[in-house]
Amino acid sequence: MVTITNHMPTAELQALDAAHHVHPFSANTELGREGARVITRAKGVWLTDSEGEEILDGMAGLWCVNIGYGRDELAEVAARQMRELPYYNTFFKTTHVPVIALAQKLAELAPGDLNHVFFSSGGSDANDTNIRLVRTYWQNKGQSDKNIIISRKNAYHGSSVASSALGGMAGMHAQSGMIPNIHHINQPNWWAEGGDMAPAEFGLARARELEEAILELGQDRVAAFIAEPVQGAGGVIVAPDTYWPEIQRICDKYGILLIADEVICGFGRTGNWFGCETLGIRPHIMTVAKGMSSGYVPIGASIICDEVAEVIGMDEFNHGYTYSGHPVAAAVALENLRILEEEKIVDRVRDVTAPYLKQKWEALLDHPLVGEAKIVGMMGSIALTPNKESRAKFASEPGTIGYICRERCFKNNVIMRHVGDRMIISPPLVITPDEIDEMFVRIRKSLDEAHAEINERGLLKSAA
Ligand SMILES: *Cc1c(COP(=O)(O)O)cnc(C)c1O
Repeated sequence: MVTITNHMPTAELQALDAAHHVHPFSANTELGREGARVITRAKGVWLTDSEGEEILDGMAGLWCVNIGYGRDELAEVAARQMRELPYYNTFFKTTHVPVIALAQKLAELAPGDLNHVFFSSGGSDANDTNIRLVRTYWQNKGQSDKNIIISRKNAYHGSSVASSALGGMAGMHAQSGMIPNIHHINQPNWWAEGGDMAPAEFGLARARELEEAILELGQDRVAAFIAEPVQGAGGVIVAPDTYWPEIQRICDKYGILLIADEVICGFGRTGNWFGCETLGIRPHIMTVAKGMSSGYVPIGASIICDEVAEVIGMDEFNHGYTYSGHPVAAAVALENLRILEEEKIVDRVRDVTAPYLKQKWEALLDHPLVGEAKIVGMMGSIALTPNKESRAKFASEPGTIGYICRERCFKNNVIMRHVGDRMIISPPLVITPDEIDEMFVRIRKSLDEAHAEINERGLLKSAA
């Protein structure tokens, strides 16, 4: 057996990786030729790679490392819990202290009467749980035909077959197919799809598509509507202000369940504990994962309101994961929540860090490539465009320009992601103003280099 260590030469690690490791969301053959970047350690907002480069993580891993890297407290709690009770399940009339404590804490933090928690290992399986929850809810109320879930195009709700069907990513649907009784309406993406409408008018029009869908499918067929308060993986799409109040009105009027997928927005990302507080919505169910443990261990959950929990509880719920409420994951998540709360990280985001980041982010509008700059709390996006006035798309294949820009960021040791030709950030919530300044030095340099490159390659052209 080969012993694989941090001290192996990068090229050897890359060759072994290419030989045996299939990467998610990657063209693996091409990646194997190029070689993946090997990350060896991390502290605060900084990653170190196998070449000793220090990289500023503008994405908090995958939107999850809210408290930053390298907090010993979480390692200590994990070690202690592994020694005491490394595993026990929560099926068949058993429970344990970490899961009791975490469920109680989540009920306390969650708004309104979201007081009941069903655990999973991440966001995808939590959304699978939600599909079963809402269908079982209506079955138990004697309305088993009420089983259609309405979602949105370009939404991300996970990567399992059911949660990707629930999501609205066309590329994922093309590979894994759909499941029955999921219906998609359009997203509130004004920049790309608003046409000649003013943002406020467009927001209302897109919300009213929910009402139209309910009327068309039948109120007695629609079980629930699911949405991210701010679409994350779709490109940090922030709906116009008119959108969410109208969605809430429609859900109330037709009595359909509202599921807020808070996997990214939860645990401080938007400047409140949950995105639904920032946007003024009242969900019956919230999906959580990512920031709940700051990514240190895999854990997710559905947080359920009193009434839905009561109806589900009327009968046996034929559902559960081996790792539902895993004691080590629960103990680590609880410690993460303690840190977020005691160090007032969410308050600091709301009052200090997010306003500072917003000012710097919106100032990017002075850059020749940047047409729109959107930000809520600590998640932001910019739309790259060859013509700001007409909100033009590039003539090149969508994503070409975004990819060039991302590669420049990568080279300049700042992690930003591209979604098509939008660039997005979601840094650890603990990033300091000085680190934000450093991040913008690197972002501006990368944008300038990308601008020069696309100019040189003749790509600065609008689509017809
Ligand atoms: C990441 C994400 C998921 C999926 O979570 P996993 O832990 O990757 O399964 C679901 N919903 C949203 C909004 C996400 O961002």
